[in-house]
Amino acid sequence: MPIQNYCSVYPDRPSAFRCPVCKRFFCAECGTEHEGRLICSFCLDDIRAAVGETPKKQGSSEKLRSILRVASWWFVVSLQLVSLILVTWSICAFLLDRLEKVPADFHDGTVWEEGVFQ
Ligand SMILES: [Zn+2]
Ligand SMILES: [Zn+2]
Repeated sequence: MPIQNYCSVYPDRPSAFRCPVCKRFFCAECGTEHEGRLICSFCLDDIRAAVGETPKKQGSSEKLRSILRVASWWFVVSLQLVSLILVTWSICAFLLDRLEKVPADFHDGTVWEEGVFQ
């Protein structure tokens, strides 16, 4: 007589796989694929509860999301840095431009008439 295992949930159904976590037998209906292997729905619930996730294949997308979060953070920081440099540079250029103009007419006393500061 061959050894036939039955599903732990439905004793009338022959088992299709053995859960690698709890080592019990289940039919195909009671199993779900998790990270490339069949696992029973009970153990899957435990795993999901432990990780705090609900949909499957969360592992890689969560990793990607954290990478994107860091990347977007760096993007924002570098963007702020670039704009800060641009603003500083334009202020310096503006001031240098004014400083170059001022001494030329300043000693002549014509600076106020020509409206350099406008
Ligand atoms: Zn299990
Ligand atoms: Zn079953």
